[in-house]
Amino acid sequence: RQKNQKFVYDFTEGNKDLKDLLGGKGANLAEMTNLGLPVPPGFTITTEACKVYLDTGAEPAALRDEVSAHLDALEQRMGKKLGQADDPLLVSVRSGAKFSMPGMMDTVLNIGLSDASVAGLAAQAGNERFAWDSYRRLVQMFGKTVLGVDGDLFEDALEEAKRAKGADSDLGLDAADLKQLVDDFKAIVAKETGRDFPQEPREQMDLAVRAVFDSWNTERAKLYRRQERIPGDLGTAVNICSMVFGNLGPDSGTGVAFTRDPASGHQGTYGDYLQNAQGEDVVAGIRNTVPLADLEGIDKTSYDALLAIMETLETHYRDLCDIEFTIERGKLWMLQTRVGKRTAAAAFRIATQLVDQGLITEAEALQRVNGAQLAQLMFPRFDDSATSAASGVRRIGWGIAASPGAAVGKAVFDSYTAVKWSRSGEKVILIRRETNPDDLNGMIAAEGILTSRGGKTSHAAVVARGMGKTCVCGAEELEVDTKRRRLTAPGGVVIEEGDLISIDGSSGKVYVGEVPVVPSPVVEYFEGRMHAGADEADELVQAVHRIMAYADRVRRLRVRANADNAEDASRARRFGAQGIGLCRTEHMFLGERRELVERLILADTDTEREEALGALLPLQKADFIELFEAMDGLPVTVRLLDPPLHEFLPDITELSVRVALAESRKDANENDLRLLQAVHKLHEQNPMLGLRGVRLGLVVPGLFAMQVRAIAEAAAHRRSVKGDPRAEVMIPLVGTVQELEIVREEADRVIAEVEAATGTELKLAIGTMIELPRAALTAGQIAEAAEFFSFGTNDLTQTVWGFSRDDVEASFFTAYLEKGIFGVSPFETIDRDGVGALVRSACQAGRATRPGLKLGVCGEHGGDPESVHFFHEVGLDYVSCSPFRIPVARLEAGRAAA
Ligand code: ADP
Ligand code: MG
Ligand code: MG
Repeated sequence: RQKNQKFVYDFTEGNKDLKDLLGGKGANLAEMTNLGLPVPPGFTITTEACKVYLDTGAEPAALRDEVSAHLDALEQRMGKKLGQADDPLLVSVRSGAKFSMPGMMDTVLNIGLSDASVAGLAAQAGNERFAWDSYRRLVQMFGKTVLGVDGDLFEDALEEAKRAKGADSDLGLDAADLKQLVDDFKAIVAKETGRDFPQEPREQMDLAVRAVFDSWNTERAKLYRRQERIPGDLGTAVNICSMVFGNLGPDSGTGVAFTRDPASGHQGTYGDYLQNAQGEDVVAGIRNTVPLADLEGIDKTSYDALLAIMETLETHYRDLCDIEFTIERGKLWMLQTRVGKRTAAAAFRIATQLVDQGLITEAEALQRVNGAQLAQLMFPRFDDSATSAASGVRRIGWGIAASPGAAVGKAVFDSYTAVKWSRSGEKVILIRRETNPDDLNGMIAAEGILTSRGGKTSHAAVVARGMGKTCVCGAEELEVDTKRRRLTAPGGVVIEEGDLISIDGSSGKVYVGEVPVVPSPVVEYFEGRMHAGADEADELVQAVHRIMAYADRVRRLRVRANADNAEDASRARRFGAQGIGLCRTEHMFLGERRELVERLILADTDTEREEALGALLPLQKADFIELFEAMDGLPVTVRLLDPPLHEFLPDITELSVRVALAESRKDANENDLRLLQAVHKLHEQNPMLGLRGVRLGLVVPGLFAMQVRAIAEAAAHRRSVKGDPRAEVMIPLVGTVQELEIVREEADRVIAEVEAATGTELKLAIGTMIELPRAALTAGQIAEAAEFFSFGTNDLTQTVWGFSRDDVEASFFTAYLEKGIFGVSPFETIDRDGVGALVRSACQAGRATRPGLKLGVCGEHGGDPESVHFFHEVGLDYVSCSPFRIPVARLEAGRAAA
């Protein structure tokens, strides 16, 4: 760590690009200050100081003096000292990490107030109630977040005071009530912590700073970071900001605003405002807010000033911004801004709107959306026409559409139950009056979240949008009783824990029962079933259409589909697939054909075997003809049989029982006995490392030859009817070039035979999968015999890590994820350092041997956004993924190239 490192920056010293050092909040406060916007003066303690504290358990030595110097300057500027008895300077101590973590970290307002200065504040403001209200908020926030006192104790005391007074909100309490409440709160602090509430202003500030540092490592902060994949070692900055007061009376207030609707992307004035309140009241949903538009009637000057600032910010940040502001006696103050979170639909619409406004380029528009958002838009939605018809379904409420999607599940009323039930495979909807950070676990576990209080900027709404979870909030006519675990709707409908409930995060509607779902308009569009119109869904489809066009224009990676039949192939083609990267032939061996496979496996003589193969040939050929027709003109990579043969035979236990029973009845059937023998012979302890892939081709005579013949004859047939088949033959599980050479020789011979017999030149490419470490390590040799490589990253991940992909998810992955060994399963996102390194070197070695070698990937990773970027980087020609992931892969390939 360098000497003379600067740990404190005045708001005038920073800027928006210093988020690593100043955190998002601090960097943007500095940016707004430098834009000349009205930001209360203050300074930021850097994340570096936090890191020192987290590493060593103590603040860096230089920090105290540096803070003192900045505090002196602030006091000079404001003309009063922190906590000065006759006219106290008050500050907020606010956390602010690089990434926004809503509600995760703690902020304390009104620092500097004490028994000595509360009267001074009252006198200066000419408002005694205000001073005591500020003081009781300080003791409450400080007590909870800095001293660790259970927040409910304060809440209960506040509720009790309101009840005693017959007040329905905190506004009903007067100065004397609040003064009494301060005494009660201080007594709670003394009782719970064994010490008095600290009266010394600087001590309050220092303790609050330390509490912010500490809050980085609370369990809920850690959980949120894991969920959002935010590194654990970034630390948080701390902002010290002079207070402005929204709780001075009806000419004051506080609010939040978005420059555009974060749900739809529509421009306008979106937000919530609360008169005579301090900041956290809005988010906490303590009193009901009014829509921002109402501010025009309450205080037109401030409203106009706010709109002008929103315009400035949007143009400056060239994106949707969200804003926190406070009005103190008719004067507007900006307290926070950041590029705002938005729903997936809004992301697409805003990106194209900004292109149209000339604020961003098409390449930038691509960076404003992502594949995960596109995937979310492809989820099905509720079928409104069916909601009345479906049995037992009834609309019971209508709240705020806070985060889109259609969620159905069993009602649960607390986080613990949500987690427990979802672990046992149930889908649940978490129902709360309002959520707070302690509900995070439950929110992650639930399909959707329903609250009866709070607006679009409530905790539930913000966090759910961030997670891409369906959320309806503020459904006020629903009465949530968490103690008795039930929800009561108007008309006396009661929903108990475990009852089915459906919530529509796009419309805000809440239903009892299970509502049927319909495909999303985006899927309808990809399917070619969406026609021009002017409604809401259409605006979204237009935006998706344009973004996909940008992506297709710039991407280098081609996108193919994993598809085994003509129907999937056709859908894939509609979704933009440029061929099939993986046709698994094993699916063609199931169903009624299983019997033929059994015959093949049981064959004792060549004749028997040839008969079985002869029966399979025309069936395979017919499959391929259909597939080549659906993908006419585009490459189709057919993988020869891959899974262990025993997968085609009956289950060993079932068959043993059947045979044993038959034997006891003395009527054992000859065929079953032979079958059982074969099952025993083929049984393997470790089938995934056993007789499968190219090994089958080498030990089961005629199997691969039959498959190659079916492919070749199907291609010849398509040619004969003027089609354009582009088949490629792919050999799975090769570990050494010798295996490939033997199989290849036979395949070449069969192809030549078919070419001669049909008089057509087929030009079938033969290549291999690279899915074993040895294949990757000897890729240079293997390329001698392969015209293409397709990385099978599922098996490659399995064999490189030594993880059984069928077992690990259920056994120890949760522990690994919890311990942070990896942030995401390597089966989901490619492990760049291990598996990825092998892919990279195999590409280089393969191309060194054979410069034109075609390279692709056909594991699950082919449709995973993060992995697609990696495959672009290492220079693959294409990725192949399931038909539904194709748009996502196209988009991400475009984003990688833009
Ligand atoms: P969060 O990250 O949870 O939004 P903030 O630091 O923004 O926490 O503060 C919580 C609330 O207190 C916000 O509504 C904010 O606007 C308000 N607030 C913070 N600092 C001040 C201040 N100096 N004066 C008035 N209100 C403030
Ligand atoms: Mg804030
Ligand atoms: Mg494989």
